[in-house]
Amino acid sequence: MKVIRTVSEMHSYSDSLRAAGKRIALVPTMGFLHEGHLSLMRLGSRHADTVIVSIFVNPIQFGPGEDFEDYPRDWDRDIELIESVGADCVFAPEVEEMYPEGYQTTVSVARISKNLCGMSRPTHFDGVTTVVAKLFAGVKPHCAVFGEKDFQQLMVIKRMTKDMNLDVDIIPGPIVREEDGIAMSSRNTYLTPEERTAARSLSQSLFEARKMVEDGERDAGVLIQHATDRITAEDLGQIDYIKVCSVDTLEDCTVIEGESVMALAVKFGKARLIDNIVLNPH
Ligand code: AMP
Repeated sequence: MKVIRTVSEMHSYSDSLRAAGKRIALVPTMGFLHEGHLSLMRLGSRHADTVIVSIFVNPIQFGPGEDFEDYPRDWDRDIELIESVGADCVFAPEVEEMYPEGYQTTVSVARISKNLCGMSRPTHFDGVTTVVAKLFAGVKPHCAVFGEKDFQQLMVIKRMTKDMNLDVDIIPGPIVREEDGIAMSSRNTYLTPEERTAARSLSQSLFEARKMVEDGERDAGVLIQHATDRITAEDLGQIDYIKVCSVDTLEDCTVIEGESVMALAVKFGKARLIDNIVLNPH
C-alpha cells in the first residue's frame, strides 16, 4: 500500500489515477482507527476504484486545553487495519506540510456550525472545514465518506461543499456501535471501566427517545428531560448539551414535526463523547 507524506506527491498520484479514468474516494480520519473508520473505507470502495485514507490529527480543530497533544496514535496498527480492508493509499502529511509558515487562510461555514458542538467548541468547525477543504484540494477525490457519528460535521461539510461548488460527492456512513450500544470512538480509550459502563447511558437514552417518538411523543423538551435524567443518574458524566434539532438547519426544535436529530455531548474526565440519533415522526 502506498503511503504519501507530501501534497505534491499526492497531487501526482491523484492526477495519474484520474488520467487512467479511476474514481477516487477519500476517507478522512485522525487515525487510531476502529471498526467505524473501516466501515467508511468499505463504503468508499463501493463508490470508487481507489480508496485513499488520510490520517492527520488536525491541530487547528482542537481548542485551547483540548486533547491535541494526548490524542491517541498508533501508526503500525492503523496501517495494518487499512491494509486489511484493501484501501489503496494513506495520505499522512506532517503538520508543517499542511500548515507551513505563513499559512493564514480559514474556511468557515456560518450558521450551521454555531449550535451543538459549536457552542462549547467555537473554533472547532473552522478547523474542520479548513482541513477538509485542504484534503479535497490535495487528494482531488470524486467522493468523500464521513460518518454520521459526527452528524454536525457531516452537515457542515455538505454545506461547505455545496456553497463552494466543490466537485466532491459527500457520502454519509452509518454509526458503528459497540455491542452494548456505545458509539465507537478513538476517544473511548480515555474512559475508565466505571466511566465506560456509565457511558452506555448516552446511546440508551437516544434509543429510548426514538422509542418514545415511535410511541407518539412529539415534545422535544420531554425527550431531552428523559435523557438528562437518564445520564445524570449515572453520576459520572457531565452533560455539555442534549438537543433536538431540525436535520436540515441544525436549529433547535421544540416540537418534532419533520425529520429531526437528537444529539448530545457528555464529558467523562477528559473524554468528551458525542452521539446522536435521527428521529422520524412519520
Ligand atoms: P475521526 O478519526 O474521529 O476524526 O473520524 C474520522 C471519520 O470517521 C469521521 O467521518 C467520523 O464521523 C467517522 N467515525 C468516527 N467514529 C465512527 C463510528 N463509530 N461510526 C461511523 N463513523 C465514525
